[in-house]
Amino acid sequence: MAIECLVLGAGQEVGKSCVVVSIGGRRIMFDCGMHMGYLDNRRYPDFSRISESGDFNAALTCIVITHFHLDHVGALPYFTEICGYNGPIYMTYPTKALAPLMLEDYRKVMVERRGEEEQFSFDHIVDCMKKVTAIDLKQVIQVDKDLSICAYYAGHVLGAAMIYAKVGDNAMVYTGDYNMTPDRHLGAAQIDRLELDLLITESTYATTIRDSKYAREREFLKAVHKCVDAGGKVLIPTFALGRAQELCLLLDDYWERMNLKVPIYFSAGLTIQANMYYKMLIGWTSQKIKEAYGTRNAFDFKHVCSFDRSLVNAPGPCILFATPGMISGGFSLEVFKQWAPSEKNLVTLPGYCVAGTVGHKLMSGKPTRIDLDKDTCIDVRCQIHQMSFSPHTDAKGIMDLLSFLSPKHVILVHGEKPKMAILKGRIESELGIPCFYPANNEAVSVPAGQTIRVDVTKSFLRNHFNRNFNLSKHEPLCFSDTIINHEEISEICSNERIAEGILLMEKNKIAKIVSENDLLHKLDAKEHTVQLAFCCPVKVKNSQQSLDFSTGGTKPLPGESNSEPNPPHQPEKLLRAVSGFVQRQIQTCHVTRGPVHPGDLMRPDSPPDGPDTAPNNLSQPSEMNASFGTPFCSLLELLSREFESKIDCCNIQKTFDHLQLKSFQARICLNDLCSYRIQQGQSDCKTETFFCCSWSLSDDILARKLLGIMREVELDISNIAFLLPEHASEHMEM
Ligand SMILES: [Zn+2]
Ligand SMILES: [Zn+2]
Repeated sequence: MAIECLVLGAGQEVGKSCVVVSIGGRRIMFDCGMHMGYLDNRRYPDFSRISESGDFNAALTCIVITHFHLDHVGALPYFTEICGYNGPIYMTYPTKALAPLMLEDYRKVMVERRGEEEQFSFDHIVDCMKKVTAIDLKQVIQVDKDLSICAYYAGHVLGAAMIYAKVGDNAMVYTGDYNMTPDRHLGAAQIDRLELDLLITESTYATTIRDSKYAREREFLKAVHKCVDAGGKVLIPTFALGRAQELCLLLDDYWERMNLKVPIYFSAGLTIQANMYYKMLIGWTSQKIKEAYGTRNAFDFKHVCSFDRSLVNAPGPCILFATPGMISGGFSLEVFKQWAPSEKNLVTLPGYCVAGTVGHKLMSGKPTRIDLDKDTCIDVRCQIHQMSFSPHTDAKGIMDLLSFLSPKHVILVHGEKPKMAILKGRIESELGIPCFYPANNEAVSVPAGQTIRVDVTKSFLRNHFNRNFNLSKHEPLCFSDTIINHEEISEICSNERIAEGILLMEKNKIAKIVSENDLLHKLDAKEHTVQLAFCCPVKVKNSQQSLDFSTGGTKPLPGESNSEPNPPHQPEKLLRAVSGFVQRQIQTCHVTRGPVHPGDLMRPDSPPDGPDTAPNNLSQPSEMNASFGTPFCSLLELLSREFESKIDCCNIQKTFDHLQLKSFQARICLNDLCSYRIQQGQSDCKTETFFCCSWSLSDDILARKLLGIMREVELDISNIAFLLPEHASEHMEM
C-alpha cells in the first residue's frame, strides 16, 4: 500500500495550491487555487493530469478546500462549471460564506477593470457554491463507506482548516495555510495527536523565525502615524478578508487610544459586507474577541468608513484599505498609480507577494519606476513599509507541529524551493522524518502501513500483564543484594511492555497471537528445544607419532578389571585408556527434549553400557581434569587457541572433554557411527579427528564461523607433549 501525492500547484512555489492524493483507493483533491502572478493558462492547475479523458467525476472522490484565499479556491468555479466536475466538495461554513466574495471581487477586477476575457461568470460562482457541503470543525464526515475526513482549526484566516483524511488504516493531514500563534483576531491552529502516514504542510516561512508580534505591530502603527502626521496618504493593499480585518482591529484600537481623527477608508462595499460576516462568525475568532463579545463586537469599527472614488485625489491625509493585496491589478493598483509619485505617501506591503505582481517588485529592492506595460510607467517615490507579520506559521511553528504529530512522511508545498530544501534538511536531521518537496506536476509516493487485525489468546494476555521489564541497558542486574529505588528502576527499565508471542495463521481463520504453551497444546507437543549438531573433521598433524584415537576406543578403563597386567607407561597407552573411558561417557545425541540446562548435552540419553555405567560427568570435572583429561584437554586447548586467534572471543569455557562458547559446544567424538557425521568421500582416519559440535539456533552464525575455522585448521599434536602435566601418567598407574 502506498499514498501517492500529485502536486498540481504550490509545488516549490506559492500560488494555485492544488494537491491530488490517492489514498486507499480514494482520490482527494486538496484545494483548487489560482496563481495570481500569471494571466495565461498557468494560472490554473493542469487538470488534464488527473484525467486525460476529462472525466473528473470518475477520477476524483471529492474536493476539500481549506480556506477562502484565492490561491486555494480561485480555480474552483472554473473546475466545476467549465471543466464539469460534479462530485462532492467540502469546506467549512465560514469558507463557504466568504469564498464567493473573494471570487466575485477577483472576477470583477479581472473582467470589469482590466478588460480580460471572462474565465467564469457571477452565475458560475453561484452555481459552484451550490455544490459545496459546509462542514464544522471536528465533525467527522463520511464521504463514502471507507473515506472519512475531519477539519481542524488552522488560524490563518476566518474559517481556515487543516484536513484529516482516513481510509482504512491509512491516514494523512493536509494543513493548507496555518498559524501556530494566535493573532489579533484568530486563535492558533489546534489539532489532535493523530497517527499519520503523511503530512502535507505549507512552508511559506520555511526558514524564518519571527520575533515578537507586538514589536512588529508597533512599528507598523508608528510608520502609519508618522505619515498621516506629515499630511501623507497611506495605501494598505489587502485582500478583502483576513488581513484587512486584523489591521482594522489594530488601527481602530490605536485611533481610539491616541484620539486621532484622520479618516480610515475601506475601498469597496465588499469589505464592509465581509466585516458583517466576521461579526456573524464570531465563534471562529480568537478567545479574546469571543470573550469581549458580551460588551462589544470588535468588528463594529468606530473609525472606519467606506470610500468614494472621488476621494482619491482629495487633499489631506487618510488611510485606505484597497484590494487586491499584492497590487496585481484592480483598485489598489489604480490608487497606487496616483499616490506612488509623492514621497509624502506611504504604501504598506503584506509579508508575502507572489512573483509577477507589483507588490513583489516593490518588495525586491526599492525601484524608482515600474513599467506596468508598454504604455504605463509608474514613478515610485513614496515610502514603502513592509509588514513582516503574516498569518502563516514560521519555521518554529512547522517544526513544532511536526514533532507534535510525528507523521511517517512529510511533503512540503506552498513555499520557495531554496527555503524548502533547508527545511527538508532540518526535518530529516532533527526529527528523522523523510521529507519531500515535489515541483508542480510531480508525484511522490510514500509507503503506508497496513494493519492486520489478530485475535489473542487468554494465556498470551496473562503473560503480557505479568511484570516484564525490558532490562536492555544495565544487564546483568542483581536485585537481591542491592536496594534499588523507583527512579533507578525507571532508568534501567524502558517503560515499554514487551509482548512476545507466536503469530498463528490458519486457513480461513482470523490470525491469532498465541503463547508458547498455547502452541504446544495446539501441536500436541511437549516443551523442547531444537539444537543443531555437526560432527566436524579436523586435520591433525603428526598424529601417527603420538595419537591414534580411531583405535583407542575399546581399551578398559583405568581401575576396572585389568586385561593388561602391566599398566601402560607410554603416552600412547595412556591416551588409549583415556579414549576408552571418555567414549563411554560421551553420547552425541543433541536433540534434547524438555528444558535445556547447562550440561544437559553431556548427560547421555541412553548410555551405551546401560544407565548404571554412565556416571554424571558434571559431578567430577575437576577431578577428571586433574587425573585423565589432559590429552583431550590439550587437543581442545589447541582448538580453543585457534578460535581465540581467529575470532574476537575471550570467554571460551573449557572442561576436560569439551569446550564451549555461548551455546556452541565441541567435544572429541570417537563414535565412528556418529549420526552427526557426514562422510565426504574416503576420509583419512589417521590424520583426522572428529569433533562433535552442537549449538542452538540463536548462535547459528557464530557456530558456522567456528566450524569454518575447524575445517581449515591443522592441529599440531607434537605440541601436546609439553602441554601434559608432569605426573599425569603416575595417576594412571593406580
Ligand atoms: Zn492563505
Ligand atoms: Zn496560501
